[in-house]
Amino acid sequence: MRRWAPAADHPARPGLRRAGRSARHRPERDADLRRRPREGAEGLDDLSAVDRVAADALALCAIAAPTGAEEERARAVAERLAEAGAAPARDAAGNVVARFGPDDGPAAIVAAHLDTVFPADTPLEPRRSPGALHGPGIGDDCLGLAALAHVARRLAAGPAPAHPVVLAATVGEEGLGDLRGARALLDACACDAFVALEGHGRDTLQTAGIGSARLRARFTGPGGHSWGDRGAPSAVHALLAAGARAIAAAGGAHVNVGVVGGGTSVNTIAAEAAAEIDLRDADDAALEATRDRVVAALRAATPTGIELVIEPLGRRPAGSTPPAHPLVQAARAARRAAGLPPAEENASSTDANAALGRGLPAICLGLTHGADAHRPDEYVELEPLGPGLAALEALIDALGRGLPQER
Ligand SMILES: [Zn+2]
Repeated sequence: MRRWAPAADHPARPGLRRAGRSARHRPERDADLRRRPREGAEGLDDLSAVDRVAADALALCAIAAPTGAEEERARAVAERLAEAGAAPARDAAGNVVARFGPDDGPAAIVAAHLDTVFPADTPLEPRRSPGALHGPGIGDDCLGLAALAHVARRLAAGPAPAHPVVLAATVGEEGLGDLRGARALLDACACDAFVALEGHGRDTLQTAGIGSARLRARFTGPGGHSWGDRGAPSAVHALLAAGARAIAAAGGAHVNVGVVGGGTSVNTIAAEAAAEIDLRDADDAALEATRDRVVAALRAATPTGIELVIEPLGRRPAGSTPPAHPLVQAARAARRAAGLPPAEENASSTDANAALGRGLPAICLGLTHGADAHRPDEYVELEPLGPGLAALEALIDALGRGLPQER
């Protein structure tokens, strides 16, 4: 596999000049020129680690970053990583990447995602209340991004890790991003352990990735006047009938028709309609079978005179990391070291899926408790964040030492 090779800094992104000035992290030079004493990084503005991470999360949350338009938030993350003493660079996909430790060899990748599910015009007024942070995307995944900066400060202040650690802020994790950023990262960077960070879910350890298959069903027909052309086939009617058949055909497997649209006026036979459908399963073969059933049902229920085109929108592979794998054991040990009880181990759908789909060990960690992700009133709690960060620090230390070989 190729090593990660950062793209040259984009000349049209002046804000990134400082962050992207170095193609590769060089610990010795950093020690001379850029390393700040740890107490300096945190003591300058007199903030505790939790306060610092909270302030970063709020600042990042105030920057819109819908999937596909993560640029401004990426720049802000790169600035924070550079201030932390890292040498972040941007890759061609738009990810922000900072490597610590040896230049050669597979790295432990720790990733948080830049993008949110919220459209660019969503009002963003993140705020701190006593004990909590509020804002769309504050936990999913601004807190994860802020934690990357926290980890970068520790890594830059300490001796360089013996085993390479790559911190990455990824594009394209949500919605139709299809893990574009994580895939590009793994294409470019040899990886032997992958950790996705999320703000929510501190007491769950996700060791398996739920696979998903997403498709758009587009119906087109002749259209016409609702009365004058009565009897002509309607794209909306076809969508309703075929959509209902598709839901039934999933047969208990997860199916969500998340978006529908079509038609132009109440008295016009619809010439166009479309639905976006999300299918999920922990088992890839079962997922394929569900997709085949759903596609067959859509086709069978589409009436004569209506054309149906089915476009794939994305495919996240399923996979899992065995409970006895050193990465899972290191995550459990890190929780113990932070005084946290054993986590519930389960499955989710995150950037970790991109690694799991390649047979790489991968987990997803949460940093604190919160609720209402993917809603404008999302919040995360501050009190559980301290131990969450402590567990993350212990895990990063273990990754930097190098996990014991499996088998
Ligand atoms: Zn997320």
